[in-house]
Amino acid sequence: MVETKRTLRIALAGNPNSGKTSVFNAMTGARQKVGNWPGVTVEKKVGMLSRRGYAIEVIDLPGTYSLTAFSVEERVARSFIVEEQPDVVIHVIDTGNLSRNLYLTVQLMELGVDLVLDLNMWDEFQASGAELDLEKLHRMMGAPVVPTVASRGDGIEELIDAAIDLAEDREEHHRHVPISYGPHVNDMLEDLVELLDEKGVSQNGAPTRWTAIKLLERDPEIIRPFLESETREAATVRDAVDRATRHIETATGSDAEKVISEGRYGYIEGALREAVTDQTTDRMEVSRRIDELLTNRFLGYPVFILLMWVLFQMTFRLGAYPMSWIESFVTWLATTLTSVLPESLLSSLLIDGVVGGVGSVIVFLPNILILFLGVAFLEDSGYMARGAFLMDRLMHSIGLHGKSFIPMLMGFGCSVPAIMATRTLESSRDRLLTALLVPLMSCSARLPVYLLIAGTFFAEQAGTVVFALYAIGVVIALLVGRLFSATLFRSAPAPFVMELPPYRMPTPRGLLVHMWERSKIYLQKMGGIILIASVILWFLGAFPQIPETTRDYEAEMARLESTGTAEAMERAEELENELAAKQIETSYIGQAGELVRPVVEPLGFTWEMGVSLVTGFVAKEVIVSTMGVLYQVGEEEGGTSLQEALRSPKSGVTPLSAFAFLIFVLLYTPCIAAVVAVKREIGVRWMWFSIGYQTALAWLMSFGVYRIGMLLGLG
Ligand code: GDP
Ligand code: MG
Repeated sequence: MVETKRTLRIALAGNPNSGKTSVFNAMTGARQKVGNWPGVTVEKKVGMLSRRGYAIEVIDLPGTYSLTAFSVEERVARSFIVEEQPDVVIHVIDTGNLSRNLYLTVQLMELGVDLVLDLNMWDEFQASGAELDLEKLHRMMGAPVVPTVASRGDGIEELIDAAIDLAEDREEHHRHVPISYGPHVNDMLEDLVELLDEKGVSQNGAPTRWTAIKLLERDPEIIRPFLESETREAATVRDAVDRATRHIETATGSDAEKVISEGRYGYIEGALREAVTDQTTDRMEVSRRIDELLTNRFLGYPVFILLMWVLFQMTFRLGAYPMSWIESFVTWLATTLTSVLPESLLSSLLIDGVVGGVGSVIVFLPNILILFLGVAFLEDSGYMARGAFLMDRLMHSIGLHGKSFIPMLMGFGCSVPAIMATRTLESSRDRLLTALLVPLMSCSARLPVYLLIAGTFFAEQAGTVVFALYAIGVVIALLVGRLFSATLFRSAPAPFVMELPPYRMPTPRGLLVHMWERSKIYLQKMGGIILIASVILWFLGAFPQIPETTRDYEAEMARLESTGTAEAMERAEELENELAAKQIETSYIGQAGELVRPVVEPLGFTWEMGVSLVTGFVAKEVIVSTMGVLYQVGEEEGGTSLQEALRSPKSGVTPLSAFAFLIFVLLYTPCIAAVVAVKREIGVRWMWFSIGYQTALAWLMSFGVYRIGMLLGLG
């Protein structure tokens, strides 16, 4: 007998940190696709599995505490359930936090979905000594209840089977339990439902009762069509809602929204009292003790700063070793290829373009692995929530939550992992604002530029100048953050509970999976796009070629080298640099330099500075090597001779324009890799905005510094 494969769509809903992603991974294994929800920058994961003749599609909805329309996450989760109508919704619950998790359950029940309750973290719940009557909960909620330990994969098959049974209508206690909100609300709801049905104006696919509840709660998305519409029906509904709300308020002495949420809590309270014994767990008690220390007003901050410092040190100090191995490997590869391959355009493309470009990005991999391992540890152990709690007040001054502090701090190391770390933030508004601000934290790639320029022009005060640059970056980030949250992101930051989950010992497997999930993206996306970008940049630097000149130079260089005297060798090297400089000047990048000249002239920059800013877009270190080429000094002896060349009056650089230049380097877009990361995290439109505002800011600030300096007679 041939059985046609039936399809089933299952959505996973749940609070952040309830183990949703673990359940998703356990269900679908490697068969998953990651993308974004249409129109917003919230990650969407879809996976496939087959079981009992079903092809099952699993969708990981964004983690939410509620289904109001407050945050993007909630809107995404809600509209998916209402509009796409998945066959089954599995609610992943952290059983140790049952009462808080059930608030979402109740809202899913209101939506009338076919619901399976996944009591995840069952191991911890049991270890706490609490007990739960599964059968009773099952009957009360009218939904199958399956305990799981997602991190070990326990109970996942039962969970899938429960979902299939439910979809096949083989679930015996299945029913849609109406939540009671007390007599006053219930009466008003009945009237409203009747009216809505009669007028036929209910929302697409959602139960009428749900729409009625949302109207009483004055849910903006649901009520808007009625407020904006001119029709008689809309007016009738509006009046009815107003009347009902007033009635509830006079009858209960409290506003309707509150009465409704109290109804939900009451329901939960009742259910828990029926089904659960011993809610106070030892685990929570231990956590509370630890918190008395770690979130203490006096001890908390030093401990937090110490931990951040350790993380920072580990990432960039410890990472420096494997980084230098990879660097020497890349150099070795480039040298070997140079000696093995005949000199040609193709080999130059391979060596300078592909190996050089991708190599410069791959060297950050160790840092990223270490950083993400550390972040995963802090997150999984529960400490990250405490750090965020401590930093909350400071971050509020720029319209962000405490959690954004970590990515900002990472920004001092490298913007790329820092921007990627914004995905640990729950609200997409925070992710956006943080990703826009991170590049203002002066990354370590800018340091070589600071050292060169400050060392050249401010010898004695070089250290102070460099420190000042870091400080200026932070101050500007604070100001820009305030500006943006007062203009672009006026919508108040989504109110969210600073939850303090219990401490737990992270499992090695969990840590590795978390680390890898994030690092993988760096490798895949960055690798691909950086490869393309490197090739393009190589092309722009190598073309158009200057064949005649090249041949003349090469003949002369060969002649000099064949004489073998030290003097001749030196001259040959000079010629090589001259040729390189000529090539850059003629190339498209050089032409870009010509183009940027009028743009950078008002800032007191020379065209060489302009070109290095353009090439600095690839990576900030490149500014130094570009200047080396343009000022015709060998890269090897870099430091001193380049400094001399810059210092000589011929260079056209003054201490004032040098400082303005440093300000520019501090503020403009860090590098391609960072831009790619920004695009990946917050989308193309915001990527352009980010590039635009940073470049404009850099220009204006440099202009201000240079012009004011001139007025003060410092030029
Ligand atoms: P999400 O935020 O809901 O996607 O949660 P995750 O799947 O990222 O899980 C959060 C943390 O809980 C991770 O450290 C998981 O390894 C851990 N975790 C997930 N499920 C379980 C479980 O059943 N038992 C235990 N002890 N830990 C779990
Ligand atoms: Mg997740």
